[in-house]
Amino acid sequence: MRPDWDSYFMKIAYAVSERSTCDRAFVGCVLVLDKRILTTGFNGSPAGQPHCDEVGHLLVEGHCMRTIHAETNAIIQAALHGVSTRGCTCYVTHFPCINCTKALINAGVSRLVYHIAYRMDDNALEFLRAANIELCHLEYTPNHHPVLESLFIEKNAPET
Ligand SMILES: [Zn+2]
Ligand SMILES: [Zn+2]
Repeated sequence: MRPDWDSYFMKIAYAVSERSTCDRAFVGCVLVLDKRILTTGFNGSPAGQPHCDEVGHLLVEGHCMRTIHAETNAIIQAALHGVSTRGCTCYVTHFPCINCTKALINAGVSRLVYHIAYRMDDNALEFLRAANIELCHLEYTPNHHPVLESLFIEKNAPET
């Protein structure tokens, strides 16, 4: 069974999240327009600076200040490479924080697809609604890999 487009891009967002260097949340984000990936982002330190997994977190009031969030990094990558994000869909493994939500709105994101309902912020939800951004909670199994699964099932099928 081929994955539908939303599952396909969420699968990629999970692959991207494996690059995260702040283990407080392994978040991955993919910005997509017309079924094309514009940019990707994961949680990590500013470029060239030590990462949480090397020097520890920089905690202030329970939040790690060292990292730039995946969604913000994806938007920054677009700016860095001169790619317009207007009208794109944001695929993100975890529901965004309030700051990333505001950044996504101003980046012109028109649809937000998330998997994990992580710290659902009421203000973020209200901002998304006011910005007319289509919100989609994707039913998704992170390790779901239909091809591998079918091979596994065939290989382990009881002999008849
Ligand atoms: Zn950290
Ligand atoms: Zn964020």
